[in-house]
Amino acid sequence: MPLYPESKLLDMGTQVVSISVGKKPDHEDFTVHEWLIRESSTLIHATLLSDQSERKERKISLPDYKPKDFKIYMQWLYTERVLMESGLDDDTQMNANCQSLIKGYLLGCHLGDEMYRDTIMDFLLEWNYQICTYYCQRPIFENVKTVFDSTELGDPLRKFMVDFTVWNASHDFWVKNYEDFPEHFVAMVSIGHSSRSHYGGDPPISCVKKRPCLYHCHTDETCYKKRLDR
Ligand SMILES: [Zn+2]
Repeated sequence: MPLYPESKLLDMGTQVVSISVGKKPDHEDFTVHEWLIRESSTLIHATLLSDQSERKERKISLPDYKPKDFKIYMQWLYTERVLMESGLDDDTQMNANCQSLIKGYLLGCHLGDEMYRDTIMDFLLEWNYQICTYYCQRPIFENVKTVFDSTELGDPLRKFMVDFTVWNASHDFWVKNYEDFPEHFVAMVSIGHSSRSHYGGDPPISCVKKRPCLYHCHTDETCYKKRLDR
């Protein structure tokens, strides 16, 4: 572990925000330094900006998300590490990790946190390199509808799911299941199939080593990978 100069010390202040996550009675309350979460989440920043009250501890509610997904987000806020409950030892754990990463990405979308979304996306790409059975692919197909319902046109996770399907789903699987997927997803996969049959080449997901921001959502040069250590 390197030693860091004192100039790296963070001054988070004493102001905190209380965030209630989940639907009652299964909700959980979290306390986060306001400075830290406002720096990262445009939603929290905007919400607190419009709250003119002078209360020392301000409250925000996220009823549509699960406490365990927020717990992972909060760990990342403070440590820049993404902690998964499951290991990487077998297919069941790999499957659970994928589910968890997708939920984390959608939480990042809701919070307007680009860095978290891009971080999670890189873990999904890593997950993609490690899986080798159909069982592990299932969370992608099972979450297509949720992702297309919860994200906007052009979202990188949509693109990832489409590219994943074009290059991994078997012909039999696609013929049997395409009618169950959202129309826009089917159209995008169809374009992907056409492109693959006309131009061939390598799967786009395999180009990430050369183009690391291919599935990132940031629109300027502020890739989290280029950010200096906090
Ligand atoms: Zn990037």
